[in-house]
Amino acid sequence: MKKHVLSLFIAVWLCTLTMTSCSAAEISAASSGTGLDSAKLTSESQPAAPFLDVPVDAWYAEAIAYCRQKGIMSGTTSTTFVPEATLTRAMLAAVLHRMSDTPTVSDPPAFTDAVAGSWYSDAVSWAAKTGVVSGYGGGTFGVNDPTTREQAVTILWRYAGNPESTGTAGVSDAASISTWAQAAVRWAEVNGILDGMLENNRFDPKANMKRGEVASMLYHYLSNNASSQPEPAASGRTLVAYFSATNTTRPLAEYVADILRADLYEIVPEDPYTDADLAYYTNGRADREQNDPAARPAISGSLENMADYDVIFLGYPIWHGQAPRIISTFLESYDLTGKTIVPFCTSHSSGIGSSDSNLHALASGANWLAGRRFASGTTRSTMEDWINSLDLPEQLTAVDAVTSAAGKAAFNFETKSVTLNSGYEMPINGLGTYSLHGETCVDSVKSALASGVRLIDTASAYGNEEEVGQAVREAMEELGLQREDIFVITKIYPGSEMANPEQSIQACLDRLDLGYVDMMLLHHPDRNDVKAYQAMEKFVEDGKIRSLGLSNWYVKELEEFLPQVSITPALVQNEIHPYYQENDVIPYIQDLGIVVQGWYPLGGRGHTGELLGDEVISGIAKAHGVSSAQVILRWNLQKSVVVIPGSSNPDHIKENTELYDFALTDKEMAKINALDRNEKHDWY
Ligand code: NAP
Repeated sequence: MKKHVLSLFIAVWLCTLTMTSCSAAEISAASSGTGLDSAKLTSESQPAAPFLDVPVDAWYAEAIAYCRQKGIMSGTTSTTFVPEATLTRAMLAAVLHRMSDTPTVSDPPAFTDAVAGSWYSDAVSWAAKTGVVSGYGGGTFGVNDPTTREQAVTILWRYAGNPESTGTAGVSDAASISTWAQAAVRWAEVNGILDGMLENNRFDPKANMKRGEVASMLYHYLSNNASSQPEPAASGRTLVAYFSATNTTRPLAEYVADILRADLYEIVPEDPYTDADLAYYTNGRADREQNDPAARPAISGSLENMADYDVIFLGYPIWHGQAPRIISTFLESYDLTGKTIVPFCTSHSSGIGSSDSNLHALASGANWLAGRRFASGTTRSTMEDWINSLDLPEQLTAVDAVTSAAGKAAFNFETKSVTLNSGYEMPINGLGTYSLHGETCVDSVKSALASGVRLIDTASAYGNEEEVGQAVREAMEELGLQREDIFVITKIYPGSEMANPEQSIQACLDRLDLGYVDMMLLHHPDRNDVKAYQAMEKFVEDGKIRSLGLSNWYVKELEEFLPQVSITPALVQNEIHPYYQENDVIPYIQDLGIVVQGWYPLGGRGHTGELLGDEVISGIAKAHGVSSAQVILRWNLQKSVVVIPGSSNPDHIKENTELYDFALTDKEMAKINALDRNEKHDWY
């Protein structure tokens, strides 16, 4: 016991002597069970002794020195780093937590395998809460589980905010990378984060990540990240100033700032607007202000460095056809002479109209560019297209070229997946489980997973979430799959479920028992749908749901719904088959950056005979040597519609995955498009 206390004292003393704070690993090794707080061990100015087990010419030596110097990782003792040791999930969480300046977490999620007050507990809570590292099902985090290379890269990618990545990983074993890790690995590869880690261009995704490799990964991430930041424009800077009372304009302003690497400034009213203030035609505050051209609501605080900006993007909602009067206050508060101003507004239906010219009159010395209206939920890529179309000072377009992030959701037929606007990757063919129950359901889902299907669609209303969860868990065990390999969608139903959304959402999670759900949809519009969606948004914040979506929502429903929610849905699931094609609705949804998924792809039970026997479809099938079902599913995929055919027949299930070795010609697509009868096979 005395020996333990002494060695602990020495370890702590040695840590304080080194350049950095002690790593989670070394505190753990020296003091397991003591509750010592690594954050309290501060750095000192003495130079650190070299690590005896890190040869100066080792490929990771520079990375380890960098991470040590930055205080991100340090040795297992003052003279050893043990670069070959594997890194546990808790350790990786601790490293990233430290990279984020060790934020504290209120109301942390509890994990049965995480010891409260331990060296990792804050980091684990932070990681789970932010979604950087999710817990497993059954309330565990996997504190001591090793981290595989693909997991580690995915975790870093999530930490980086799920940056968009396109193209296919060029590593020789790309095919063995799990679907959920593909985007992350591609991103890491393109950004040089894997430099040094690839032997013979192999990534070895399932191998355990070693400490030296983690140091290398972080070193390349941090140094490349820093170096890839565009230099500030040589003269003048860009500001994005916006007012957003209901959070509709905010995301668009954030996109613009991000695309242009501009500064963001929120125009905050001194007296914030309440819901009652904003209620139209009640002679409430907004009504009165908008009716009074002289109204100038006060702004809280001011922008000290307005003189630094040459270009100002000005975002606002449209209230009664005009910009809110607080925008007038803003324009009159500064000398904007000679600055370029680019207005943009958000509105459900009105255009930018005279708000534009009326505002220009308040800043007549400015170079005023034509403004534009955007609908709520407008995607980053639309904003980017707009910015590219503007006649901006030269240095701005140059900065813009460096950034381009999100794009329209494009199907990747090699990875058989699509990247959602939430940043997660989703397979583009799956299994629908409506009408599958009991053992049939378990067997069908397992058969699908064994055939390579990685997307399963269920719903509370199908009454089979327990079976789906059981099948997924069993398949993970039997097929060696990980939770992240499988994408599970469920839905909550109108009526009592949407009236009590927190309870219903939790019930879905409990029935599935998979730790988190990849996507949750509102099954149908309902009088409580906004409230239910907002509850789902909270579960996203808590990391229990990863992406959100809607089902049976069409243009009008979307127009009404989107302005009322914060997270743009990642997916809309609607009835789509050759006899009911939704040709007006699909492009509308896709233009919003939302992925479309078709239910009843084969016409639905009771209708499949006619559709599969359709002369046009069977003729095309014959020409390609495939089945009618495959032709219909492929037609959907070529229209960028995700397919979830339902089946309990293992042969059909397998057949429905074989969609990537043939392609329909434009003529064949046109022939199937001509089959549309606007014939819905269900009422919703
Ligand atoms: P579906 O996929 O259009 O058709 C299923 C029928 O097709 C089954 O009878 C199945 O029979 C047969 N089938 C499947 N693959 C076949 C193949 N290769 N060759 C011949 N027949 C084949 O209809 P669904 O299952 O009702 O709908 C698909 C999924 O969409 C549902 O499972 C559910 O997840 C979702 N959905 C959502 C909503 C909503 O409101 N959001 C509504 C309805 C459905 P076997 O079992 O014999 O293969």
